[in-house]
Amino acid sequence: MARYTGSACRICRRENLKIYLKGNRCYTDKCAIDRRNYPPGQHGQRRAKFSEYGTQLREKQKVKRIYGLLENQFRTLFKRADSQRGITGENLLNLLEKRLDNVIYRSGFLTSRRESRQMVRHNHFLVNGKKVNIPSYLVKAGDVIELKEKSRKIKRVQESLDSVIRRGMPKWLELEKENFKCIIKDEPEREDITMPINEQLIVELYSK
Ligand code: SF4
Repeated sequence: MARYTGSACRICRRENLKIYLKGNRCYTDKCAIDRRNYPPGQHGQRRAKFSEYGTQLREKQKVKRIYGLLENQFRTLFKRADSQRGITGENLLNLLEKRLDNVIYRSGFLTSRRESRQMVRHNHFLVNGKKVNIPSYLVKAGDVIELKEKSRKIKRVQESLDSVIRRGMPKWLELEKENFKCIIKDEPEREDITMPINEQLIVELYSK
């Protein structure tokens, strides 16, 4: 599977938004966007004017990068969202939120989606007692995500769980910190997504 291997902070600077790709560093004064809040590159400090298409494209790129998806994966998810009942943009965000790597990040086991994805791939988590190593696996209400017994001493997991209050817990998830479990209580709703996202722009882009 292809993946982005460039600088994480460059992505935040491009999107002019803290995307929290580097875990704990994002909460310190070493955060690149706090230090140099302008787009990367030679012409980064010039004021950029976006056309309607450019604005839609940037929004799509931003959401894709927040969740760490490549274009094909994102487009596939969009098609699925479009085929569902309801509002396509909200369906898309719902599907993105329910990805296993996102749930593990949001419930506080790890401090970034990147780390979550890596640990899912390395078989550290169980879903309803069964091994699942697919980051794009979509959880549903009633599912229980559990960190394997032998992985519970991993330092970065313990540090992340210790700082879980700082990041806040969405109401559709319930963390049982002492049991290293997360219970999916409900479907994520639009208001549970706190990042500034205008999903309608993505719908307009893909509808062209
Ligand atoms: Fe983004 Fe984190 Fe880098 Fe800050 S430290 S620019 S939030 S990845």
